[in-house]
Amino acid sequence: MRVSVALFTADLRVHDNPVLRAALKEAERVVPLFVVDSGLRGTGFVVPNRAAFLADSLADLDDALRARGGRLVVRSGDVVEETCRVAAETGADAVHIAAGVSRYATRREERLRARLADDRRELRVHDASLTVVPPGALTPGGKDHFAVFTPYFRRWESTSVRGVLQAPRAVPVPEVRSDRLPGAGSLASGSASPGLPTGGESEARRRLRSWLTGPLAAYEERHDDLAADATSRLSPYLHFGCLSPTELLHRARAKDNAGAQAFVRQLAWRDFHHQVLAARPDSAGHDYRPRHDRWRRATRQTEAWRDGRTGYPLVDAAMRQLRHEGWMHGRARMLVASFLTKTLYVDWRVGARHFLDLLVDGDLANNQLNWQWVAGTGTDTRPNRILNPLVQQRRFDPDGEYVRRWLPELRDLDARTIHRLPGLDDADRAGLDYPAPIVDLTAAAERFKQARGA
Ligand code: FAD
Repeated sequence: MRVSVALFTADLRVHDNPVLRAALKEAERVVPLFVVDSGLRGTGFVVPNRAAFLADSLADLDDALRARGGRLVVRSGDVVEETCRVAAETGADAVHIAAGVSRYATRREERLRARLADDRRELRVHDASLTVVPPGALTPGGKDHFAVFTPYFRRWESTSVRGVLQAPRAVPVPEVRSDRLPGAGSLASGSASPGLPTGGESEARRRLRSWLTGPLAAYEERHDDLAADATSRLSPYLHFGCLSPTELLHRARAKDNAGAQAFVRQLAWRDFHHQVLAARPDSAGHDYRPRHDRWRRATRQTEAWRDGRTGYPLVDAAMRQLRHEGWMHGRARMLVASFLTKTLYVDWRVGARHFLDLLVDGDLANNQLNWQWVAGTGTDTRPNRILNPLVQQRRFDPDGEYVRRWLPELRDLDARTIHRLPGLDDADRAGLDYPAPIVDLTAAAERFKQARGA
């Protein structure tokens, strides 16, 4: 009887899962394996919000496999050693895994391949699993990746994409020992954000259905309206692979409206950043395009930024949303990142770290490269543009509704007062438990221009 191992990583689903399908196709019995990887401990990637979401997702995956006659096999320890051990215990001749893009993922793959080969077993890597188009599949002449989004998108849009794979009807699992499913507390210590979404494929599919049948159509007009909260909020499900980006693409395209087109473009951004990170793993921690910045330390201002106490209501509202939900609206992410890196002129790595500490969708490719994009050290073709929080407030939260939602101390103020707040003098702000602005925008813009020689 042939056995293979399907090693789950960032693809915690049974629908449209190339790894699971391939493992089932080649063997009579499959071990659906998840290893709680001790190698990730202490790397700063296992934080309470993502641990809670992961625990939900694993429990849901186990349910889905049980409904198909199988179960999730869980082990803890070094991912390579544990996988090889399970393969040996079950006599599996191959291990299937989704191709990753980070340096950690590619090293894991190399180590696994070598260790399995020692035992005459094979590693099969499936590349159209975590992204729609595999990193490296599209390249401009003579280069190994696209450094600018628009030409990448043109090619991406016209590339043929594999079809959606059905969820398997049955998953026969051989006799093999499993640890208990991990709870959030055993994965990371500390408490998760109170407004954290529920993880797992079932929840992802529920959200997908309601997104496709409703708000998607208005995505183009409404996605930047902060109070409307009219984006999909599917990012954590994509990050953990509870939802396949390929399935999402096909199902959005089938809607064939302006909202769907604008939404599909965002999925291309996700692929774009993955192909940059795959080609330049160093860009997770180093400037993709060095601008010779001599960043300020600005410890107290950075603390105020983290706490949502900068005196700029839109920045503060967004930072409080991040703490409360482990998620932040995309337009707001751009603003707070611009505020930290350009207005305060603080290193993008400081902000990226704070985001990774809290974001439930916190993702090396999307987080580090979006931070670099905003900081002007990444792939933005206009690296020195600065987002002004007062202008952004007028454009994207004109009625002050988003600000009032996240800043209870401003709940009773009308929109006009919220817009004027950073300019009020001490006498006018008396009685408000809200700080005066921590930085003057004009002077800060001048400082940044000088620093960049722009
Ligand atoms: P929607 O607007 O509904 O978009 C659909 C999907 O497209 C998203 O779920 C996401 O997968 C993808 N997408 C949208 N915008 C981008 C983008 N700019 N780059 C890459 N993919 C995109 N996204 C993450 O998934 N993880 C992160 O850690 C992350 N960090 C970010 C940090 C900064 C400073 C900025 C500016 C953006 C970051 N983003 C990150 C990208 C983006 O803000 C989020 O993906 C998006 O806001 C998630 O909300 P949504 O699912 O409602 O998005």
